[in-house]
Amino acid sequence: MERKNAWESYDTETYIQVFAFAEQYRKFISENKTERECTAAAVELAKEAGYRDLYGVVEQGIALKPGDRVYAVNMNKSIALFEIGTEPIENGLNILGAHIDSPRLDIKQDPLYEDTGLAFLNTHYYGGIKKYQWTARPMALHGVVALKDGQTVRICIGEDETDPIVGISDLLIHLASKQMQKSGTDVVAGEDLNVLVGSIPAAAEEEEKKEKRLVADNILSILHTKYGIEEEDFLSAEIEVVPAGPARDYGIDKSMIAGYGQDDRVCAYPSLIAQLRVRNPRRTSCTLLVDKEEIGSVGATGMHSRFFENTLAELMNAAGQYSEIALRRALRHSHMLSSDVSAAYDPNYPDVMEKQNSCYFGKGVVFNKYTGARGKSGSNDANAEFLGMLRRILDEGGVAFQTAELGKVDAGGGGTIAYIMAGYDMSVVDSGVAVQNMHAPMEVTSKADIYEALKCYCTFLENA
Ligand code: MN
Ligand code: MN
Repeated sequence: MERKNAWESYDTETYIQVFAFAEQYRKFISENKTERECTAAAVELAKEAGYRDLYGVVEQGIALKPGDRVYAVNMNKSIALFEIGTEPIENGLNILGAHIDSPRLDIKQDPLYEDTGLAFLNTHYYGGIKKYQWTARPMALHGVVALKDGQTVRICIGEDETDPIVGISDLLIHLASKQMQKSGTDVVAGEDLNVLVGSIPAAAEEEEKKEKRLVADNILSILHTKYGIEEEDFLSAEIEVVPAGPARDYGIDKSMIAGYGQDDRVCAYPSLIAQLRVRNPRRTSCTLLVDKEEIGSVGATGMHSRFFENTLAELMNAAGQYSEIALRRALRHSHMLSSDVSAAYDPNYPDVMEKQNSCYFGKGVVFNKYTGARGKSGSNDANAEFLGMLRRILDEGGVAFQTAELGKVDAGGGGTIAYIMAGYDMSVVDSGVAVQNMHAPMEVTSKADIYEALKCYCTFLENA
């Protein structure tokens, strides 16, 4: 079956819109690299668009009515946004879901040490990475330090042009003959992903020099001056080591975006913007931006948490529509696009792809009827009837879309949050944007696909 290249369908005006939206997206992912930063940015954008904090609404006993817009934040790492529809909520919601955590290195609880006059931070990687890709590149530190007095200090080092960067050393090729014989998984060990952060010793008396970590102490004193934190404060910190610097236009024709963590902000950002843009929906609209997808959607802020269900109960209660059976019905009658990135066909690595069932840059938003591995294990297998309905509204909305599998049968596999939501008996399909270099420190996407994703999400919220 032939799927058209979306670029060929754009007139001048659309072309300008495609590039303008890509630029907004490029800025968003340059400024917001962690789940906490994405959540905070989403709250800001939501407030500007007239959203109110659901918990505040509940506390004040305000009754919600159709057209009202509210959001709920979970532990500063995930967010749910709703606009109440004109239909009863028990008829079901139209839900967009995506994740805002990305593979990275987290610093350990007791991270700081010194070796031969160099100060390092110990890390433990998060999500699936090829460890050797994270050496010899500019890195930044993003995160928070929660103090004993309840205050939280935001940390960001390595993004401002005047900031220093940090990084992980690589072994020089001249001495790497033994290393180059190792298998890819062993080229760099997870335990060796130590971030170099300093080399100047603090001033000290001659007799102190032997037993003290003077370089580490100097780092602590810099951190104390800048952030008011002490070494013990690392015990209650969440600091992520991520690639430093902004996302960039990619390709001589600027048709693509290169940047860190587009899995899955390339779905999260268009979902968020669609949620803010679509007004007065018939069915209650919802966008869920969740954490912990890369490690199995676990914990309070992952999709397996009761956060969504609890929040929906609060929303229905505030709208005067709550009962246990109405909540169950709302879940069962909901429609969801569970958005995550798909592996773009890459002519450099044709062996792992089946050409006819791969997704391609420029051919629009991707639908994966199923994901999983080894005979679809772990997959949500979307219902054919639901896909039929989606084809109708996407064709009517003029949205470019394609279908794909994640690689050849038995080449590997993956999963997303779709199967978790499907457990509520709702209609869910995996969808999203094609990405090259998935999980590498620099991922690549097509601007046409990002624009088609936005169109798809708006169409879905209005018509599903
Ligand atoms: Mn993902
Ligand atoms: Mn991923």
